[in-house]
Amino acid sequence: MHSARIACVLARLYAGWLLGLALFKTLVAMVLVPGRRGLRRFEENYREDHLLALAPAEHSAQPSMSNCIACGRCEGGGAGNAAARMAGFHGLMSFMLSASRSMPDFPAAAGMISELDDAWLERMEARCPSGISFRRVAGVVRGYDRRLRNST
Ligand code: SF4
Repeated sequence: MHSARIACVLARLYAGWLLGLALFKTLVAMVLVPGRRGLRRFEENYREDHLLALAPAEHSAQPSMSNCIACGRCEGGGAGNAAARMAGFHGLMSFMLSASRSMPDFPAAAGMISELDDAWLERMEARCPSGISFRRVAGVVRGYDRRLRNST
């Protein structure tokens, strides 16, 4: 019983020492290497997972990027658009429901719509009952993809 109590105290002391050491190392790193904090550190850790801190315009566009109700009205507009028929593009609804809702998938989303022009996207916007601006969403995923490729 007595030795169990001593082991418990030693374990607590050891845990406290580890926590104190981690706090000390963190404080020293904050003072000596300020650039490794915050968003910069986040991007270092998660860039390989295709995660970057959102730019203000990308942030403000997020609510509209999840407004798709999967009605399918934007699916039929590709018949006269050569770019929309190309391999890899499965329609605006699948674009809105999948790739454009997940930041790690933005590069794939940008690839899906790389051949689509803004004039066609604008015409398709008239079909959307949720009022989604496909041009704005396309701009967000393209810009994010560009930033991701330029960040090293
Ligand atoms: S028309 Fe709008 S709401 Fe309907 S599927 Fe297309 S993006 Fe979604």
